[in-house]
Order: sequence, then structure tokens, then C-alpha cells
Amino acid sequence: MATENRFSPSLTTPTPSRQRFSAPNTPNIIVLCGTLIALVMVALCALVLYQGRLDALDRARDTSRNLALLAERDIERNFELYELSLQAVVEGVQRADVIALPPQLRNDVLFDRAATARDLGSILVLDANGQIVIDSGSLPPRQGNFADRRYFTVQRDHPDTGLYISSPYKSRLRGGAPSIALSRRLSHPDGSFAGVAMIAVNLEYFRNLFAGLSLGPHGAVSLIGQDGVMIMRQPFDANVIGRDISHADTFRHFRAAEQGSFSEISSIDGRRRLYYFRNFPKLPLIIMVAEGEDDIYAAWHRRAIIIGSSMGVLAAGFIALSFVLAAQFRRRMRAESELQLLARTDGLTGLHNRRTLGEILDQEWRRACRTRSLFSLLFVDIDRFKAYNDAYGHQAGDDALAAVARCIGDNIRRPGDTAARYGGEEFVVVLPDTPPEGAAHIAEQIRAAISDLSIEHAGSEFGRVTASIGLASWRPERDDDVRSLIRAADEALYDAKASGRNRVMRASPA
Ligand code: GH3
Ligand code: MG
Ligand code: MG
Repeated sequence: MATENRFSPSLTTPTPSRQRFSAPNTPNIIVLCGTLIALVMVALCALVLYQGRLDALDRARDTSRNLALLAERDIERNFELYELSLQAVVEGVQRADVIALPPQLRNDVLFDRAATARDLGSILVLDANGQIVIDSGSLPPRQGNFADRRYFTVQRDHPDTGLYISSPYKSRLRGGAPSIALSRRLSHPDGSFAGVAMIAVNLEYFRNLFAGLSLGPHGAVSLIGQDGVMIMRQPFDANVIGRDISHADTFRHFRAAEQGSFSEISSIDGRRRLYYFRNFPKLPLIIMVAEGEDDIYAAWHRRAIIIGSSMGVLAAGFIALSFVLAAQFRRRMRAESELQLLARTDGLTGLHNRRTLGEILDQEWRRACRTRSLFSLLFVDIDRFKAYNDAYGHQAGDDALAAVARCIGDNIRRPGDTAARYGGEEFVVVLPDTPPEGAAHIAEQIRAAISDLSIEHAGSEFGRVTASIGLASWRPERDDDVRSLIRAADEALYDAKASGRNRVMRASPA
């Protein structure tokens, strides 16, 4: 029985890793990575959308600025022309030769073609009492006294005013048409007040300038005097023209800087608006462009909902996918470990198979060598099993084998102890850190338990199924290898067979 070739190399060839499959936390890592990637995707999307929101605000600010600038240039250019016309009148009426001309010729000299421009009222020269003395629109001049108008009183009372731009008023000469006036003082050679030259600008001019500007449903453009009086507003509302808003918070902003933008909630409709304002550099006017933030962000909002919800769905899908992947991975791991278990187990007895025994033996042996601890091995062989098979059939033989295997398994209890089917009706029990006495005790328990199964075996001298056990132990002081220990156990088994079977024999120490 004790032959070299019984111990094939596969028994002792080490298979280093018992766990050759993925680490058990891999599915969690998949879920974690999936969730992380999804979160990064969502964060990136949020960042891009946020940037888009800022861009929308920047664009709105640019649009307002450009709009204000264009309107301002148009107004300033026209006012410059009006002022030049007015200047020509002021200079003309102070020349005696011009005044001495026949009325029609005098008017032709004093008033250039600008006086006939659309939206311009008449150019009037008023005397020191406010009475019309020269009228570009009529010969003889129309009757009228404007001594009560601000454009008159300011020039009369403040000689250094220069060009004065009035607040809106209703024109008496043009059927109450809302207008503003530009006036200049006329002085006698001694500097005393001689009257004013004035030109009226119909507010229709501003209305036409602002008409058609599209600033969204909640936007507005306003032209305001620096004294806080509203000159024109788009959308047009006749009630606000001429209203004094100098006490409003927004107006205070307008006067705080040359130009700027700010966002504020309207006290009238509760809407937040972005205001852009510019104080005209040469005229006492302020232009203000307001856009509703709802309007500014409307397109962005629509896009954000579509992109945001798509990204949300994508991220949720990604997370769900990682869960599905993790679940599949887990199933595969379970299947693999079941397969692994099957590959390591003997199908008939449920004990470790020979290949696994090789791994365990190798591992335990190296551990024993490393820690210099005792190491015992049992070789169990059922007695006269060929005869049992012959007498009771192969199936009964299998049942008996399984019953014997259970006995062996039941009698080893320490976690390090291992039982394996070595082949046929032979088993090996590995008992690490166990002295020969302890191993002999376990061997005896196994032998007795098998005998106590009382499985009938007519062909045996004991009348029942029994087993012989060879025991070999390794002591740290000896310099053996595991193969020689197996050989020693097998030889002890041979001795047990030779000396009558159903017994435990210890290998004699070398
Ligand atoms: P000994 O007391 O000297 O061990 O005699 P033995 O008959 O047990 O020894 P031998 O090696 O001559 O015979 C072993 C027999 O074990 C051969 C075979 O019939 C039987 N056997 C081996 N493997 C199996 C198995 O898986 N199932 C069954 N039913 N029988 C097996
Ligand atoms: Mg045998
Ligand atoms: Mg046998």
C-alpha cells in the first residue's frame, strides 16, 4: 500500500490563493463609482447651466447698454442741432440789422430749415414780459404770454443758466400736445434780461424713438430729467409722463453714478427687474432700460428644464444601471463561489476533495514549519470494502462511504482540522497544532464511531463496516517534508491492516 506514486505531485503542488475571485465589495464599488460618475455628470451640468444663466444676464445687460447708448446718441445729436438753431436765433435777434429787416426776411434769416423738422414746435422769441415777439411758425406772430413757464422764469431769474431743458408741459399753441422746451436767455447789452428764445420738442419724438423696442413683456425704457421728472416711457402711459419720481429708490440709484446696472424688486408689481441707466454726458437727462428677470431668463429657463431633466434622467439611469450591474456581478460571484465550492468538494461525501486537500496540506504544513508547531495526519481506510461492494452492491457501498465520511467529519471539531477524501475508500484528516496523543485520541474516536455505525458487513471479520487508521505526527525538531509525513501515515495504516484491521496505528518516530 505504501508506494511512492500514491502521492501525486498535485497533492503538494501549492495553489497559493484560495480566493481567486473578485473581492466581495466589488459590487459596492460599482454602485459607488456609478453614483459618483452620475453626481459628477449632474454637477457639471449644473455648472454649465449656471454659467448659461450668468451669460443670459450678461447678454441682457449688454442689450440694455447698447439700446441706451443708441437712444442717447440719437437724442444728443438732435438736441445739438436744436441748440445750434437756438444759438443762431439768440445771436440774430441781438443784431440791429437783422431786427430791422422786413418780418418775412428776418424770419428767413433767423430760422433755418431745422425749425421745420418733424416733432419740433415753433421757435419763439419772447420779450422780457413773456410775450411772443417773433414766431417761426406764423407771421404776424401768434398771441401768447409764457411768463409763467419754467423755461422762461429760470432764464429770467438765473442769468447763468445757459441752455435750459424743461420738464414736460402741455403746449398752449399746439392744442395741448405734450412737449419739452429748450430755452436760452436774451440779454440787453448791459446784461439785463431781454427775454428768451425757446424751441419746443414734441414728446412724440421720444415716443417714436422708443416705439417698437422689444424688451419682453415686463421691460421698459424711460427718459427722465435729472430733476426726476418722467419725460417718456415705453410702453407708453400718458399718466406717468410728467410725474416726479425723484423720491423713488430706483431714481436715487440713477443719480448715484454716471451709469450702471442693478437688480431690484419693483414695489408696484413685485417683479424683479434688471435696470440699466445712463446719465447723458451733455444733457440733463437720464435714460433707463429695465428688463424683467423672468423675461431675461425665459429662454434659459426652458433650456435648463429640458437639459436638467434629461441629465437627471440620465444620471438616475446611470445609477440604476450600476445597481443592475452590481446585482449581476453579485449573482455571478455567488455562482462562481458555488462552482468553486463544487470544485473543491467531493460530490459523494461532501468532504474536501483531493485537490483541495493538497492546497490545505501545503498551507498548514508551511504554517507549522513557520511557527514550529506540532502537526498530525490521519490516513483512514475502510476495511475490506471491495468485499462490501461485491456483497451489497455499489449503491450500498456509496451510502456506507458517505456514512463513514460523516463520522469522520463529526469527530473533528477544531477550526483548523480538515477531513478530505483522498480517493476510493480512503480519507485523510489534517490536524494542525495537534500532538500525537491528541491525534491518537481523535483517530480512536473516529474508528469507534465508524464501528458504532454498525453497518452490516458479512464479509468482514468484525461483521460490520470498520476502518483502519494510520497516524503520523511531525515534531518541529525533525526536518521532514509533508510527503514523508503522508508516507509515514500510510505506512502506519499498512501496519494497522497487517495487524488485524479496525485499529489505529502510530507511525514509529524516525
Ligand atoms: P482493505 O481492507 O485491505 O482496505 O481491503 P479493501 O477491499 O478495502 O481494499 P481495496 O483497495 O482492495 O479495495 C477498495 C475498494 O473500494 C475498491 C472499490 O470496490 C471500493 N471503492 C472505491 N471507491 C469507491 C466508491 O466511490 N464507491 C464504492 N461504492 N466503492 C468504492
Ligand atoms: Mg484502500
Ligand atoms: Mg480498504
